[in-house]
Amino acid sequence: MIEPPEIYSRIYSRHGHRCPMSTLGGRLGLAAMRWLGESSGELQAVYSIRTCALDGIAEVTGCSEENGSLIAKSDGRHALILKSPKASVEVELTAEALEMAGQYRSLCNRLEVGGDELEADEQKKRRAEMDAMLDELLPQFWQAEDQLLVQKVSE
Ligand SMILES: [Zn+2]
Repeated sequence: MIEPPEIYSRIYSRHGHRCPMSTLGGRLGLAAMRWLGESSGELQAVYSIRTCALDGIAEVTGCSEENGSLIAKSDGRHALILKSPKASVEVELTAEALEMAGQYRSLCNRLEVGGDELEADEQKKRRAEMDAMLDELLPQFWQAEDQLLVQKVSE
């Protein structure tokens, strides 16, 4: 396994596993904070779909569902609204980002067939295949330019 940058290590330990969507949640949160600029006071976040991205957003923005500062809706859009007392910004994942994450999802769907019924060796082999894909995919998400992964939704 490739060692992730510190911020993503924190996301994965909060989230419990490495995956594309928690990583992309981190990218969305970081981009939104940058666009929001220097802000004092409480942040409020609304994310339009319940995915692994919520943990990434929570880790980088400090908002959390537990205290009500992060709200998950089910509008089916991968869009994040981040508000400070003075400003607000809306960002969403690009088609490219979703397509890259989708490749991992389809590999998992294919490899998870059979699940617990499989021999231990076969399960181990499949796990290794998924890990190899994450090792290739996640560094691209850590390093990509914002504009490849995140777009600002016009107000
Ligand atoms: Zn996940």
